[in-house]
Amino acid sequence: MISLDKLVRKNILSLTPYSSARDEFKGEAEVFLDANESPFNSPYNRYPDPLQLKVKEKISVLKNIPVDQIFLGNGSDEPIDLIIRIFCEPTKDNVVAIDPTYGMYKVAAQINNVEYIPVSLNENFELDAQNILNNCNASTKIIFLCSPNNPTANYLDEHEIRKILQQFEGIVVLDEAYIDFSAHKSFLHELDTYPNLVVLQTFSKAWGLAAIRLGMAFAQKDIIHLLNKVKYPYNINLLTQQHILKAIEDTEKKNSWVRTILQNRQELIEQLQTLPLVQRIYPTDANFVLVKVQDANVVYQFLVEQKIIVRNRSNVHLCNNCLRITVGTKEENLQLLSALKKMKIKIDS
Ligand SMILES: *Cc1c(COP(=O)(O)O)cnc(C)c1O
Repeated sequence: MISLDKLVRKNILSLTPYSSARDEFKGEAEVFLDANESPFNSPYNRYPDPLQLKVKEKISVLKNIPVDQIFLGNGSDEPIDLIIRIFCEPTKDNVVAIDPTYGMYKVAAQINNVEYIPVSLNENFELDAQNILNNCNASTKIIFLCSPNNPTANYLDEHEIRKILQQFEGIVVLDEAYIDFSAHKSFLHELDTYPNLVVLQTFSKAWGLAAIRLGMAFAQKDIIHLLNKVKYPYNINLLTQQHILKAIEDTEKKNSWVRTILQNRQELIEQLQTLPLVQRIYPTDANFVLVKVQDANVVYQFLVEQKIIVRNRSNVHLCNNCLRITVGTKEENLQLLSALKKMKIKIDS
């Protein structure tokens, strides 16, 4: 990897970050008159901890990662945007990403006026490291990988990911939003092996907490330091911090939800396979399945009429006539299946 100082934008390297009252005085006191807060309406009148130390200590135990290698963001979307802003000079640098993948990498690059270079997976949605590396140039600062990938649902080959981590001189962001649903190993414990690795995880999927907006980035501490420099001072509000402290206590609840979803996923796949309109179900390591049907637009529209919403991915690269179906409860999945069966009758008659 190139040294971080050379990789980072100069304005970010020399930036003096905003220093809040809570940055300048941390600790216990009797009277706080330093932040222009209201003295009334406790418990929400005070600014929250800008570095979310209590939350990070819990996450540190949960993930077995040191506190100074953890960044918390307003969803994963925040670290995605910040990493681009930290490393990419607008109109000059570029980022490379697998195609198809999660749409936010491209949007975040475009908002920052940073060129986005999509590199196609093969028709089985597999990653070819050499092909990714061949599409990088001297101005490529970041490679975005997503495993298990969205919307293709598959886990990317570990050895191909390693090749990229070893050979690429810039930052590799590996988005593991769906890792809890996968039998494959996370790269979380390889941060010491790969100083250019940033692993993204989230509380939005397996933990069932999409509404509280809490995403995690894990990386070597110098990268975390840069993220902390650039973020909004109070990016994680107190309600979210309090809620996650409670939720983290109950990992068994999360684990049992994951087990249920994996069971429901298996049943859903088996039932979908019996339907003539289903042409192909792609292998999944996530809480959704990508399904190729005869005419995705027609099926999508029919399901909307039945008040069932899936994601039509038909216009996405390599996903022609594909629907992305999130695994729901048993009842929700049965409702979907019975609607799809009804559709066959409608077409036949
Ligand atoms: C859902 C998802 C996320 C989660 O985003 P949040 O902002 O944390 O809710 C991240 N990456 C991928 C690939 C996703 O599909």
